[in-house]
Amino acid sequence: MRIVTPSGDPVRSASADDFPYPVRWQNAMKAALRDPAELCRLLQLPEACSEAAIAAASDFPLFVPREFAAKMTLGDPHDPLLVQVLPVLRELDSPQGFTVDPVGDDQAVLTPGLLQKYAGRALLVTTGACAVHCRYCFRRHFPYAEVPSGVAAWSDAIAALAADPSIQEVLLSGGDPLTLADATLAQLAQQLAAIPHLRRIRVHTRLPIMIPQRINDQLLSWLVGTRLTPIVVIHANHPRELDLPVVAAIDRLNQAGVMVLNQAVLLAGVNDDVDVLAELSERLIDQRVTPYYLHQLDRVKGAAHFEVPRERGVDLIRQLRARLPGYAVPRYVEEIAGQPNKTIIA
Ligand SMILES: *Cc1c(COP(=O)(O)O)cnc(C)c1O
Ligand code: SF4
Repeated sequence: MRIVTPSGDPVRSASADDFPYPVRWQNAMKAALRDPAELCRLLQLPEACSEAAIAAASDFPLFVPREFAAKMTLGDPHDPLLVQVLPVLRELDSPQGFTVDPVGDDQAVLTPGLLQKYAGRALLVTTGACAVHCRYCFRRHFPYAEVPSGVAAWSDAIAALAADPSIQEVLLSGGDPLTLADATLAQLAQQLAAIPHLRRIRVHTRLPIMIPQRINDQLLSWLVGTRLTPIVVIHANHPRELDLPVVAAIDRLNQAGVMVLNQAVLLAGVNDDVDVLAELSERLIDQRVTPYYLHQLDRVKGAAHFEVPRERGVDLIRQLRARLPGYAVPRYVEEIAGQPNKTIIA
């Protein structure tokens, strides 16, 4: 399928030879789909689909890059990529146990925007913006409006990091840090590198999957341009997310010397299937990406229909272990508020 931007530029090319895309990543963000009716129309889905999506999108709007939509199968409301991003009426259910802050973020705040739950590493919520709105996101109710963004606004967080020699690694998270401008991120990286006890900078991002042209020279130059060891944790849930342009973006990270890991979330109707998870791992390893974590769904309000029972998850991991080399099997984890690390289920 071929989707065009409002300017008429093709945003999906037929071959990897066309990489990088003709559309700059900033324009791809601007051109992203925000109207459920438009997404449903592009994918040739029934009218009922878009009515439901409009009703369900009210508190967490739809946001889908055209690059990602272009990988979905026309006419299939159960497409595993679509299911991750299309609002559905079941989001409005509120079963017991699904809350607005399931992972205890409120309790972990060091300074506004800086969270620490685990020894040696702190997480900076750099921005509330993402390159996609994942319907199962545990931060879908996070009070992002209260999060400071920009180099001046991070000065308290930088001071807190500088004052705590036990911290060795800073995670840039969000939202998605790579929605910020490279000039801003370069300044941040320099300020972090100036803190002697910091050793690593880790970026948690879905942009290489959603808008792969984001992995451009400007980004690589700050990411590998300080003394800090760079790590990028991408987020792919299904092997079909790893198409040629995404592979090319991962190659650029590899070639620049960045350690690349993947985290996935176990999602009903997306990847709760041993063949899908095995193929995801195989494709990641083909690209020299380590399958790091498979997360049990955080019990966030609006996402109950994505939950896979833990016994089923354990069984899937058991089957994966019997099929794949040990390094290709992710750790199946869940986040329990107040624990000193993510808890390994299997
Ligand atoms: C998940 C998480 C981390 C990273 O944990 P690792 O096990 O090192 O990947 C760090 N800080 C916070 C607040 C987290 O939620
Ligand atoms: S990219 Fe990450 S933070 Fe953003 S909506 Fe998706 S899961 Fe949530």
